[in-house]
Amino acid sequence: MCDVLIVGGGAAGMMAAVAASSLGRKVTLLEKNEKLGKKIYITGKGRCNFTNASPIEEAQRAVVSNAKFLYSAFYAFSNEAVMDFFEQAGMPYQIERGNRVFPASGHASDVIRALERRMREQGVEIRLNCAVKELLLDDGIVCGVRLESGERIACANVILATGGCSYPLTGSTGDGYRLAKKAGHHVTPRRPALVPLVAEEPYITAMQGLSLKNVRLRLYRDKDRIYDGFGEMMFTHFGVTGPLVLTASSYAGRFLPGHLRASIDLKPALSEEKINERLLREFREHPKNRIKTVYRNLLPFKMTDVMIELTQTDPQKEVSGVTKAERQRMAAFLKDFPFTVTDSRGFSEAVVTQGGVDVREVDPSTMESKRVRGLYFAGELLDLDALTGGFNLQIAWSTGYLAGINIR
Ligand SMILES: Cc1cc2nc3c(=O)[nH]c(=O)nc-3n(C[C@H](O)[C@H](O)[C@H](O)COP(=O)(O)OP(=O)(O)OC[C@H]3O[C@@H](n4cnc5c(N)ncnc54)[C@H](O)[C@@H]3O)c2cc1C
Repeated sequence: MCDVLIVGGGAAGMMAAVAASSLGRKVTLLEKNEKLGKKIYITGKGRCNFTNASPIEEAQRAVVSNAKFLYSAFYAFSNEAVMDFFEQAGMPYQIERGNRVFPASGHASDVIRALERRMREQGVEIRLNCAVKELLLDDGIVCGVRLESGERIACANVILATGGCSYPLTGSTGDGYRLAKKAGHHVTPRRPALVPLVAEEPYITAMQGLSLKNVRLRLYRDKDRIYDGFGEMMFTHFGVTGPLVLTASSYAGRFLPGHLRASIDLKPALSEEKINERLLREFREHPKNRIKTVYRNLLPFKMTDVMIELTQTDPQKEVSGVTKAERQRMAAFLKDFPFTVTDSRGFSEAVVTQGGVDVREVDPSTMESKRVRGLYFAGELLDLDALTGGFNLQIAWSTGYLAGINIR
């Protein structure tokens, strides 16, 4: 009989297996796929941004849900510890823009290989094609699991690391939520996060392919501002995407589907007054220019027709004939280019799942359930999620490690 059964051979499960076996515990890892770490392969566009080298306080700030819960885990197995671990496991790394850390080879597969090597060296039994169907409890205490095949495996400790429900093709189909619920845990509502957003207006999709750099995006629900950030975004055939939009989605998800007012500030470095002055100066210097030319000088090509339509100006009009009200409207739209967000693109395109096993029922210093003795949780299955930059994998490594070293 093993000391611990780990359900899920993703980032959190594999790190839990490494941690527990490093203390001499007998570990069995159960993964329902035919191979380990299927999701890791597609992280960081196949390069795996496996952590972030910024100070730990930064990581704490990048956590969107339940950052406080992670305090012990982030200190017990920090980003520095993660980098050291992979280096010692034979995988050199490199730090890139925004302190994002990648394998030096540029291959996500190296992350999986390093973990697999360590597990095999430390005697972890890895069982692939093993889907866990049921948690076996005896009087509120864990006593093993039942597989889909019907096989029962007895064990006094089980770590659930089955992931969330984003990109279900990788195996993260939400099994762990069902198992946790059956064991008496509450699961908070799950929604897609770090996900592209759907826009209502046809003029948004008409600009597909256009990418905007250094813009400010704000999202409002009625009068409440729910997001305000700077960065890069892109228009697509369904709406908007890009780093700025993915971040915004982590704050907007709880209000979707619905109707969120979105506003792009196309000139965040200039006040509306300054834009007005600039337009006035340009109109004086080139009175024969047409409105269309003014917009072409100010905006990306794909945006000019849309802007003309929205501001209801005559594109052929010479600027000498533009009224003060028209000029002010032009400046206002440059600062507040509007559209409506109605939904996200769902779990199939979400980088993470927001919501999950309620962390109030889990001990943050051991990852053990407060309800069921011998049951531990790790990774995205918990109600934890963070922004992009390597922070979500850091959550998986830290919680996996803490669960692994704390089994009884
Ligand atoms: C496209 C994409 C890119 C990403 N890029 C990054 C990035 O660059 N940096 C970053 O930090 N994060 C990134 N993430 C997020 C990150 O991959 C996840 O947060 C992380 O993998 C979660 O790890 P986990 O171990 O909790 O879950 P998972 O990696 O989902 O692993 C769960 C495992 O459990 C197995 N399983 C499920 N149910 C059962 C069952 N019943 N029995 C047995 N096994 C089961 C699954 O098959 C799976 O292998 C990305 C995510 C996506 C989708």
